[in-house]
Amino acid sequence: YDDRDGKIWMDGKLVEWRDANVHLLTHALHYASSVFEGERCYNGKIFKGIEHSKRLRASASMLDFEIPYSVEEIEAAKYAMLEANGWTDAYVRAVAWRGAGEDMGVSAARNPVRLAVAGWEWGNYYGDAKFKGAKLDISKWKRPSPETIPVHAKAAGLYMICTMSKHAAEAKGCSDALFMDYRGYVAECTGANIFFVKGGEVHTPLADAFLNGITRQTVIAMLKEKGITVHERHIMPEELASFEQCWLTGTAAEVTPVGQIGDYTFEVGALTRDIAESYEKMVRA
Ligand code: PMP
Repeated sequence: YDDRDGKIWMDGKLVEWRDANVHLLTHALHYASSVFEGERCYNGKIFKGIEHSKRLRASASMLDFEIPYSVEEIEAAKYAMLEANGWTDAYVRAVAWRGAGEDMGVSAARNPVRLAVAGWEWGNYYGDAKFKGAKLDISKWKRPSPETIPVHAKAAGLYMICTMSKHAAEAKGCSDALFMDYRGYVAECTGANIFFVKGGEVHTPLADAFLNGITRQTVIAMLKEKGITVHERHIMPEELASFEQCWLTGTAAEVTPVGQIGDYTFEVGALTRDIAESYEKMVRA
């Protein structure tokens, strides 16, 4: 995948896809000093692009570094990359990290902060689960405490257990893994937030120990606008049995229905379909 045609924006200029390399002694590679964004461009417009650029900068400051580009400059970089590749519909991946520097230890105050923006064409994140309902495994790993790691940053270090959990889920024929948090509450999936429906009302985990997704926030606002009650609260895993519908939200996942979590099953119901369609309309508007 690294040796192909295309353009990637790196540290202020467009470079050939195959030349977008970093040095082995990149601090981020050794110590996870890296933050990133996942965005989608629809019909030539990045959905909530500015919110994503702001979150990228906020994630970096949570990891104690500053991205040397403004929100406007990051926006311009994304569109330059899209235009250079001739894409109007693509997934956009901005990534900022501490590069190689004079020191190769944990301390990296003197290492340069770098920024790159790549993209690729990405269809349905969960394949045909988008229509049938995804099957989720329950991860053996827990989302960590906010006292352990900056849980609200979209930081590479938080994805180590995501990859491990997703591999375990895939080995069982599941599309993704659902995490509980350090207290045992239902948290999120490896790259998406989760919602439940019971008696016409919506319940979603309080985002106090995981990424408060931009799609999550968009969908909560959409539900409220439709007059639907949304409870953001702590949800115990035992409650999964009482929910009728379930869906996931995320930039890549968009709104994907869930049909099964472990032994619990859910219907792909009217509200789930309505929210998936409304989201689809909104991002393309
Ligand atoms: N949680 C995790 C762990 C994620 O990686 C993502 C995807 N960025 C989300 C939730 C959803 O966030 P968003 O809606 O901002 O894409």
